[in-house]
Formats: sequence, C-alpha cells, structure tokens
Amino acid sequence: MGCVERIYLDHNATTPLDPRVLEAMVPVLGEGFGNASSLHWFGQRARAAVDHARGEVAALIGAAPAEVVFTGSGTEADNLALRGVAAAARAPRRKVLYSAVEHHAIVHTARALAEEGIPVEAIRVTPEGLLDLADLRQKADEQTAVVAVMLANNETGVLQPLGEVVRLCRERGALVHCDAVQAAGKVPLDVRALGVDLMALSAHKIYGPQGVGALYVRRGTRMKPLLRGGAQERNRRAGTENVAGIVGFGRAAALAAADLSSEAQRLVALRDRLEARLLEVPGARRNGDGPRVPNTLNISFDRVEAESLLLALDLQGLAVSTGAACAAGAMEPSHVLRAMGLGPERVQGSVRFSLGRSTTAEQVDRAGTIVAAAVLRQRETTGRAAIRA
Ligand code: PLP
Repeated sequence: MGCVERIYLDHNATTPLDPRVLEAMVPVLGEGFGNASSLHWFGQRARAAVDHARGEVAALIGAAPAEVVFTGSGTEADNLALRGVAAAARAPRRKVLYSAVEHHAIVHTARALAEEGIPVEAIRVTPEGLLDLADLRQKADEQTAVVAVMLANNETGVLQPLGEVVRLCRERGALVHCDAVQAAGKVPLDVRALGVDLMALSAHKIYGPQGVGALYVRRGTRMKPLLRGGAQERNRRAGTENVAGIVGFGRAAALAAADLSSEAQRLVALRDRLEARLLEVPGARRNGDGPRVPNTLNISFDRVEAESLLLALDLQGLAVSTGAACAAGAMEPSHVLRAMGLGPERVQGSVRFSLGRSTTAEQVDRAGTIVAAAVLRQRETTGRAAIRA
C-alpha cells in the first residue's frame, strides 16, 4: 500500500492546508498568543491579527469588515443565519424557505425550526439541479422572513440563479441567505452585486484550516445570536476567537482572491478532460447542468454501486466521494440528486469528483483510466454473481 501514488479528487469535502496559510498560523499558535478581548499588549496583538483577517475575508466577498462574523464552521454560519433571522423575525413574517438541494447545515436546521413551530417549506429544483423559480415565486410571500439558496451545490457544482432569487425576494420583503461555502475561491463573489443579506463561508474549503467559518451579515440585518456569553464579534457570536484559525482563514481568502481567474481556467480544462474521459464509459451520465463551478463533476454509472466503487478506487489510491462528506457515514442516498428527480439506481451509482490546486493533467488521465476499469470490473463481478444466483 505504501507505494500507491495517491490522487485526491475530493476537494469539496476538504482542501489541504496551503503551506502559506500554515506559515501565517504557526506564529499565532506559538509566541503570538493572546486573547483578542484583553486590553493589554498581548490581547491587542491578537485583536489586530483578527481584524486584519476580517479585512481579508471581507475583501474576498466585497463586504465591509464589520459585516463579517467569524464562526466555528460553515455549518455554524448556516445555523446562525437561519436561526438568528428566524429568532429576530416579527409575526406574521416568520416563514423560512430553502432550496431542496441545500447542504444539511441548512436542511436540518430548517427541519428543526419546523419542529419548533416555525413555518418552513422547501423549494423544488429542476432535473438539472437549478432552483425552480416558479415554485419560489409561488411560495415566497409577505409572510416570508428568509429564503436560503446556496450559490454552488457541493455535490453537482451547479450555480443557482441568485440574481433572480434576490429580485423576487426583494419584491416580497424577504431576506436572502446564500451558502457560498462551495463557491468561494471558485467564482468571483460580491455581496453587493449579488444583493444577498447573509452569506456563509468556510475556511477549509479554500485551503484554510478546518473549524473556522464566517457569516456575512449585511449592515442593518436583524439577527439574534445563537451563542450567549461574551460580547465578541459585536455581540453576534460569543466565545473567545480562534485567532490562529481566523488568521489562517484570512490568508486563505487573500490567496484565493489572487489566484481566482487563472486557477478557474486551469480547473475547467482539467474537469472537462476528466468528464470527457468518464462519459466514454458505457452507461455513464453527468448529473447537473447549466452554469457550474470549475472544479466539480458528478457522474452516475449504470449498474454500479458507488459506495463499493469508492472503496475499490481508494485501494488504487484514488480518493473521491459519493456525495456530501457529512452524509458519507450515514449511507443515506443523496438528497440533492433525489430532489433533482433522479431514480434510486442512478443516485446509488453516482460519484463526485472535485478537483483542486494540486490536481494535474496526468492525475486526471490516470483517474479516468482507474475509474473506467473499476466500473467495468464491478459490473463483471455483479453480473457473474447474478448468473450464479
Ligand atoms: N455548506 C456547504 C455547501 C458545504 O459544502 C459544507 C461542507 O461540506 C458546509 C456548508 C459546512 O461547512 P463546514 O464543514 O465548515 O461546517
């Protein structure tokens, strides 16, 4: 096993820490300590580091630094957005809407809110994975407090028509929360141009550390905090700041902004090359259509069980995913692909490939060959088993 040359095509699950990010974090974890709330020199040094990082994250999305709230993860940012706005909403404007393909951080939060008595509804998507705007038009009304629509889907990479969503919600006076965890660093982001009120980000999807996220909250947006305690983050997120994590997030955001367009072009070419190779496999079909982020590809292979394919690929050194990483242990079929109307067999045979900064053309070609062979092998094995049965 030691000599297998590993290929990592699971960047949507997490990205490796960029060495330049690590370099920025190490001094903070060492002698650069301090509690950012302390008034003395040590505290002020930590405060300055947090504020610098806040500026870097704000710059990635075109926000003012004061509109960025650091959280413990992208999941927490999503929870804070929905719960925070729902808690501050005034009757009769209480309804929460979310697209059926949102990450579990939104879907499960919305379901919990429903159990607590808040009116909640999911908005349908088309077979391509795009938000059904007619369904949104019908469900969003004067009672709607917030509508959660992600920018890039983590499983298919499909980009949602946020401009249309915002326009429609504005007309009805509803806020828009955008989960941009999988879009940041992949497509240009500008909260003012998009017109969203809230936006969730996560550091570990952009080559930053795990366990740190951020929520953009447009100035003037009414939102209650999830956590109670100190006055950190302007009373919007209590708890001593994860200074090293935040510094790493800031550095990662600055690097992502600098590399964005050249890296996007490179990844589109590699992704399309992999796609062309995989679609040569008989019975292979792509899931998701329309505008997509550059790095993501979701393919269903007929007569293949993706979980066992994934394990076979892992033995050959290729790391991919069958859907959202958080659902991987649960073996729950992808709610995203089901919401797109894909049948159970197609959902079960679907594999996500997500490329990143270290992905090369050579790796993509090798991955294509490994997958094609593994798919055929699995079909042969199941075919033989079926004949024997
Ligand atoms: N939203 C989306 C679209 C994601 O892909 C993820 C992570 O997979 C999250 C939210 C959660 O982010 P975190 O892992 O930082 O909790």
